[in-house]
Amino acid sequence: MTEFTTEQLIEKESKYGAHNYHPIPVVLHRGEGVYVWDVEGRKYFDFLSAYSAVNQGHCHPRIVNAMVEQAQTLALTSRAFHSSMLGIYQEFATKYFGFDKLLPMNSGAEAVESAIKIARKYGYEKKGIPENKAKIVVAQNNFHGRTTTIISFSNDEDARKNFGPYTSGFLTIPYDSPEELKIALKNDDEIVAFLVEPIQGEAGVYVPQEGYLKRCYEVCKKYDVLFIADEIQTGIARTGKLLAVNHEDVHPDILILGKALSGGMYPVSAVLADDHILGVLKPGQHGSTFGGNPLACAVAMEALKVVDEENLAEKAEKLGQKFRDGMQKLVETGELFNLVRGKGLLNAVVINDTQESDTAWRFCLALKENGLLAKPTHGNIIRFAPPLVMTEEQLQECIDIITTTHNNFEK
Ligand SMILES: *Cc1c(COP(=O)(O)O)cnc(C)c1O
Repeated sequence: MTEFTTEQLIEKESKYGAHNYHPIPVVLHRGEGVYVWDVEGRKYFDFLSAYSAVNQGHCHPRIVNAMVEQAQTLALTSRAFHSSMLGIYQEFATKYFGFDKLLPMNSGAEAVESAIKIARKYGYEKKGIPENKAKIVVAQNNFHGRTTTIISFSNDEDARKNFGPYTSGFLTIPYDSPEELKIALKNDDEIVAFLVEPIQGEAGVYVPQEGYLKRCYEVCKKYDVLFIADEIQTGIARTGKLLAVNHEDVHPDILILGKALSGGMYPVSAVLADDHILGVLKPGQHGSTFGGNPLACAVAMEALKVVDEENLAEKAEKLGQKFRDGMQKLVETGELFNLVRGKGLLNAVVINDTQESDTAWRFCLALKENGLLAKPTHGNIIRFAPPLVMTEEQLQECIDIITTTHNNFEK
């Protein structure tokens, strides 16, 4: 409980904050594992997990301890000096994911920006692409963050409009089409990389056909183009494997991580690649004041240990199957859900109404009344992505909440 009510706190945000989000009207005050509590003390299951940043559950005690201990020891040195944490973290994380080197950054968008810069530099210095000609292929309906360069290759009008002029050097092809990738690469030798989400999260949890990633990877190899996997949302056990590319035995040339890399405690992102790629960055050519700070290193290392030691990938795989089975029953018996799709515990249902309708929004409000928090994306899609530390009993309770809400909902 706090000294202000839900209404008062929402009013403060509305009055003093930029209105760049439209949140579900709930004000959260505390979190523990799969639960969050609002300022009036009402308890909810969190079915968004901060867009999959909280895979390890809210305020995981081991990650909190690592954070507090490091905060009391040394928090920030900048990269002007070495720290006693950075090398240890880099050794740990590169072995964990199977790459030679790691570049530490903070937000997801920064890591994507870094990967773009590395790929371009690699194109000029290792492939001899003429200056300023390098191109990167991206997929339609991608989401890679909010910087001016990244929104330059988005096709979401809200994300793009009136933020120009845009960065050039990007080529958009349809998602889930290795054939289109092949056509693009075959006809253009100035392409340095293909940047892709293994599952398109923000677009509405679009799962490509089986074999898509593998086939794209093979096309990239054939034409000597870097395969860059943006696993900021799909990575760190969310889809039932440590990385979503592991479902198809793909080892990307460049791997981008963020969100759950810190278990949601702190903004920590990273770009991983082998020596011949990440080696293009020399002193002074790229950097970040906070990137790789001791606090981030301690938090990320503990967050990754938790994923491994609590078998979160296996849990996501098993619970995801159970969740989709539960939702499939509603798809078959009712009129409200058109379909359910996803992998592991990254799932979504498509609501039987238009993108412009408020049906999905009202359904999320009804879920909130029944103690479960989720949010629509693109109008009529609801993403369901709980923390991976959920028990089977808790998941059954959640399926029951969604089922009851579904059965009592008036469209
Ligand atoms: C969230 C996300 C990003 C951006 O991460 P931020 O930390 O919000 O900058 C980039 N790519 C994908 C796939 C994401 O889900």
